[in-house]
Amino acid sequence: MKQSLVRKGLFTLAACSIALLATAACGTEDTPSVPTVSVNSVVPQAPAENPNTSAPAVKTAANAEEALNLLKSGNNQFTQGSVNLNVTEALRQDLAKNGQKPHTVVITCSDSRVPPELIFNSGLGEVFVIRTAGNVVGDYEIGSVEYAVDHLNSPLVLVMGHTQCGAVDAAIEGHASGHVEDILEEIAPSVTKAKQQASESDKIADLAQDLNVENSMDRLMSSDIISRLVRDGKVTIQGCKYDIENGTVRYFDAPQSDGEQKTSSAASSSQP
Ligand SMILES: [Zn+2]
Repeated sequence: MKQSLVRKGLFTLAACSIALLATAACGTEDTPSVPTVSVNSVVPQAPAENPNTSAPAVKTAANAEEALNLLKSGNNQFTQGSVNLNVTEALRQDLAKNGQKPHTVVITCSDSRVPPELIFNSGLGEVFVIRTAGNVVGDYEIGSVEYAVDHLNSPLVLVMGHTQCGAVDAAIEGHASGHVEDILEEIAPSVTKAKQQASESDKIADLAQDLNVENSMDRLMSSDIISRLVRDGKVTIQGCKYDIENGTVRYFDAPQSDGEQKTSSAASSSQP
């Protein structure tokens, strides 16, 4: 079995070398931890299935700053239309064998226009994603984040709201049925605060989206495990908002990295 794996690895390296000669792009400075594989399989295949034959390996980060830089770089590529899914047979095998080390936990809305893996041009094994309508955070979401930061050692937790969020709009309108009501109850305090700070409907929605992100960040800090890691400087919680129209991400001013309650930076950053 092991011998077989070794043989596979040799074939993989050989294939990579061939591709390197062909493309001169097999591997980058940003990919130190996982061998870069530039073919779809240990057996060379027709490149038509995946034109990204020089795809980089899994991107990792040693700290929150590096992780945030990866997200910003990936979003720049996304807005330029150069998303690289980096899906190869060899990469799947590598992740299955060596496990995951996602550099960022992303909590965002279930909205089909807000897929974090595409928005940040992240490949397999790079982002640990939790999605709920309105990016609300409850016990299951907190437990998921605890697992990622405490067991997978992800240094960054990104809470991402978005423009034109239907859940926030529904909370502003104030009527729903079934379990959607549970979601709206979680968003309602942010709507109340937004209405105290603005009168125009567009501005209320904009503010409520930001305040709802802050509320979810605060929810995360109610976890002893997460708040301890934040206080120890091992984890940073960062808020942001995705613009579904132009594809960009606006990061809130002050990441929650000192264990203290955030001031209303999101609200202030949204003032005219
Ligand atoms: Zn939404």
